[in-house]
Order: sequence, then structure tokens, then C-alpha cells
Amino acid sequence: MSRHRNVRGYNYDEDFEDDDLYGQSVDDDYCISPATANQFIYSRQERQAPREEPLEEEEYEDEDVPMSPTIGHDLDPLDQGTKSRDQVDSEVVPKVARMTVSGKKQTMGFDVPSTAENGLVATPARRGGSPEDANVTATPEAAGKRPETPSKGSSGGDEPAAAPTPGRSAGKARQSINVKAELEKRQGGKPLLNLVVIGHVDAGKSTLMGHLLYLLGNVNKRTMHKYEQESKKAGKASFAYAWVLDETGEERDRGVTMDVGMTKFETNSKVVTLMDAPGHRDFIPNMITGAAQADVAVLVVDASRGEFEAGFEAGGQTREHALLVRSLGVTQLAVAVNKMDQVNWQQERFQEITSKLGHFLKQAGFKESDVFYVPTSGLSGENLATRSTAAQLTSWYSGLSLLEQIDAFKPPQRSVDKPFRLCVSDVFKDQGSGFCVTGKIEAGYIQTGEKMLAMPPNETCTVKGICLHDEPLDWAAAGDHVSLTVTGMDIIKINVGCVFCDPKEPIRVCTRFRARVLLFNIEVPITQGFPVLLHYQTVSEPATIKKLVSVLHKSSGEVLKKKPKCLTKGMNAIVEIQTQRPVSLELYKDYKELGRFMLRYVGSTIAAGVVTEVKSKQRERVC
Ligand code: GDP
Repeated sequence: MSRHRNVRGYNYDEDFEDDDLYGQSVDDDYCISPATANQFIYSRQERQAPREEPLEEEEYEDEDVPMSPTIGHDLDPLDQGTKSRDQVDSEVVPKVARMTVSGKKQTMGFDVPSTAENGLVATPARRGGSPEDANVTATPEAAGKRPETPSKGSSGGDEPAAAPTPGRSAGKARQSINVKAELEKRQGGKPLLNLVVIGHVDAGKSTLMGHLLYLLGNVNKRTMHKYEQESKKAGKASFAYAWVLDETGEERDRGVTMDVGMTKFETNSKVVTLMDAPGHRDFIPNMITGAAQADVAVLVVDASRGEFEAGFEAGGQTREHALLVRSLGVTQLAVAVNKMDQVNWQQERFQEITSKLGHFLKQAGFKESDVFYVPTSGLSGENLATRSTAAQLTSWYSGLSLLEQIDAFKPPQRSVDKPFRLCVSDVFKDQGSGFCVTGKIEAGYIQTGEKMLAMPPNETCTVKGICLHDEPLDWAAAGDHVSLTVTGMDIIKINVGCVFCDPKEPIRVCTRFRARVLLFNIEVPITQGFPVLLHYQTVSEPATIKKLVSVLHKSSGEVLKKKPKCLTKGMNAIVEIQTQRPVSLELYKDYKELGRFMLRYVGSTIAAGVVTEVKSKQRERVC
């Protein structure tokens, strides 16, 4: 497949020096501010400390399943739409793909041991209502349909529209294409940007982005009018714009986003894949999946008095989300200081919020020059697609609108030169032969007609069709969220979390690996045998901290202590992690995107980590 060989044979014990490495924040100090302390703290009253377990003990305790969130709003309803229903324009609805938290066990394509299901009841994949730490699967679907799936044309049907380029046939050597040059030409020369929207529940994420999509013409007036009428009927008029993204009935009933909604819009210079992450803490695993695939983030905070503080202080998701996206590799951040209409567009309030957040974001590892603050109102649409002309705002703000800010983000570097990697976020059967998988290409590129290796189950298959944003293509490259139609393999063997890769340069599969971790503010020290959930790309896998190897100096990486008895908050350490089932991963130094993970325990994120050494089951080669 890829003509490029990956460099191996590093001394894995060496630590990576990389300015993109979390934990090396500004001033080389990743200590989380004292005010952040409660964010990641276990409360001994609420949660049971793990028993200290013998080294090889692999028992994993069920996690607490938080109660359903109760959300209530009493905000001003939207102005009633006045458009007539007999308008002739056809419905324009943004194509929203969904990454769903599903109660079903994600199997990774291996024999599935009967592990505890954390008390979760299986729910239909589309519904995504499972609470915290359910296994994450991703199901791209639009409201009632699957617009992102290659249902028409190339990838799903009987007649492949994306027929292999002449001269290429299944399994043949790839036709040489200059991917970088082709990428530049594609989409009218606009680079692709994967953007995740994060923030505390009710900060206005869905409303803001729904309104932006409406202003950009991705939702037409008729559809918007329908949402206004329906939301009004349901007594939730203020959620009309949020309904553009919150597609499921359950999300609408509960007034919260559960799935990661995915859609596409364009700015002057970019094509943006938008992921709307759930804000409620029950759905952080979904948020991790979304953030792992993002290049940049929009953090939405509620400027209303008391509300910003609630989201920012203990228990709020503002800090946790910001830390998670930074730990998952996002470096550029736009902060939408939203609901400014609620505080009369006061400059003082804006400054108060930006100074509090700025301090924290700096500590979380964001460079000041990569964080941008935009005052907005998702409800009124002020300062979203165009600069506001409201005197209350223009008297003190002359900066960019949110859309201009998104447009101004630096396009990310794509690892197109590396061997092909795609982490599966959904698998489904479409019409025609073969089946479809969706996911983001993390590295390299793929062409129709080529062979790929699925790890697990360590079997090859052929790419029959490729679809990006519903368009059939001959090839796709790193950064693209694609649907692939696959033949020559039984669908039963592929599951969420499988990685499709270059058969000549397969991904590593292991059950034990060594990693450098940064511990968040945890109250209970981590000891040998500590049970965790490993969140990695689309995978959520029970694991155990098998060995505490060393404690490192936060900035120099120098070993401070070997074989520590326990690890406490804020520490940098090398540990060995044992997963219940094999996982496909890479070393951070080879593939940043595939070498990062988060560890969670009892519903809290306790650490971020990067893979430094694969201990067991070295890479398998199938050629
Ligand atoms: P999410 O949970 O962050 O996605 O928040 P939603 O988009 O569901 O919004 C929560 C509530 O805040 C809804 O009732 C919205 O109408 C309201 N809201 C969102 N943005 C604004 C805003 O800019 N101003 C006002 N006044 N209300 C807003």
C-alpha cells in the first residue's frame, strides 16, 4: 500500500521531546491550578477506593453509573417563524452523522470475554442513551437516514460510481498519485478541518452551531420553521436551533446532546467537518471519541452570571473538556463567550471570563497565541457568521466573528506520508456486495481497488468504494472522515475499534504496553493493579495498571524515582498497562494520533497518556 516505510527501532525507553506533548505546558509546568483541583477529584464519600490488588489480579469492578441528567430551561422562546408551510423550497437539512454511545459491547473483533457491562442495558445503536463509560461505538446516521453512508453510487450499491481508476484492480500495486498535490487541488483547494464543539451542558453548543449552519444556508427556512413549530409544540421553543444538531428523540426529550453529531460546512478557505460533542458528564466517553478525531476546537461558555462559574468550577465540564482536547492533541482553540445577550454585551463580563479562562487554559497547555475569544449569542445569531453591528458590542469589540475565527485556524499537518491507518468508528451492511465501514483516516492514503489489512482480525480485504461527505472518490487521505465499501471479508469479523492498515506496515496489536502518563487531580493514589478504562480513538477497553515503573520530572523527563509504590495527583510517570483484550495502537513517537489515550475510573478522567513501548505481541505481518 503506502510506499513509505515507517521508521522503527527506536529506543523506546527514551522519552519523546515534542512541543505538542501535553504535560509540557507553558513554563514547563503542567500542574493544574488549585482551583481546578476538584474537577478530577474522587470523593471518598461518593466513591469507593479501589482495593489494592495483587499484581496479576485482573478483576474489574463495575463502575458507578451516574443518574440521568435533569435539564430544565426557561429561556425566552425564539421568535415565531412567519414563513408559510407551502413554501416551495425543498427541505435542506444538514447531513448529520452520529457517533453513538451504544450499550452493546464493543468487541474489537476478538473473542469477547464476558466482561462486566457496567450495568448497562443494550440499547439500539442509534439511540445513544447509555450513560457514562458505556462502550463507545460510532454510528453515522442522519435523522432517520444515513446520508454519510455511501448508499448511492460507489460505496454501497450494486453499481459502483467510484470505479477503480483504470489500470488498477483489486490487490494490484497502487497507482502512484501525488497525494499532497491532489489534496491541495481537492475541494476547490480548501483544506479540511475537523472541528469539535465542546463545553458544559447548556452552554449553548448545539444552538450556536445549529444557528451558524442555518445562517450558512445548510438548513433552509422551511426546515427551520418546522423545527420552530415542533419545538414550540413540545414546550421547548428555545431549543429550535439546537434541534438542527440534536437529532434523536431522546436528545430532544432530555434537552441534551448525547451523540457526537457530525456535519459539514464551508468557510472562505476551509471545508469543516463539525462534531458537536455532548456536554453532560454522562457522555464524556463520546466526547473523547469526538475530540480524538478533531484538529481544532470551539469551547462554548455561558456568559450568564453564575452559569459561567457553574461550568468552570468543580463538577462543570468546561475545564475537563478543555483538558481532554488538549491531551488529545488539539492545540488551537476558539472560545465562544456565549449568551452575551444575557449580560447586555458587557465588556467587563467578557473580560472577567476571558481572564479566568486564559489563566486556566495556559496551565492546561494551550499557547496564548493559539486561543481566541469571540463574544457571541447563539440564540440571536450575533457575531456568528458575520461581525455584529450591534452598538453594544461594536463599542468595545472589533475582532472576528466565530466563522471568521474558524476560517483563520491554521490547517493541520496531515500524516499522508505514513503507512495507511483508519480506525473504524462504525460498521454496517448496505445494499450490494460487501459492507461499509466509516472512520477517520489517521495516516497515509487509500485508493479504490487496494487491499487493506484489518487488525484485528489480521485479515485482508479490498476497498471497493470510498465516500467523503457523501461524494464518491477514487482516493482519500489522512484527515478525511470516510465511508469505505469493503469486499472479500465477512462483516462479522469487523468491529468498532478495528484498525484498517497497510498490509506491509501493519499496526501493532498488544495487550500490554508501556506509557508515559500525566495524572490529573486524583484523590486516591494509583497503586499496582488499579483498574481503569482505556479510552483510545473509538475504543473503550477495561485495563489494569500492572506496573508502576518510574516517576518522572514534569519538564525534564528525568527519572525521579524507580518502582514507586503509588502515584499521586499531578505526577508524570511511566506505567505498564494491561488490557483485557488486544488493542491496536502505535507508539506516540511514530504516530501521534494513534499513540494517545485517556484513562478513566469511576466516571472521572484520571490521566492522559502516550504509548512509549509495546510489551507484548509485536506487530504481525501479513503480505
Ligand atoms: P448545549 O447543551 O450546550 O448544546 O446547549 P443548547 O444549545 O441545548 O442550549 C441550552 C439552552 O440555552 C437552550 O434553551 C438555548 O435556547 C439557550 N441558549 C443557547 N444560546 C443562547 C444565547 O446565546 N442566549 C440565550 N439567551 N440563550 C441561549
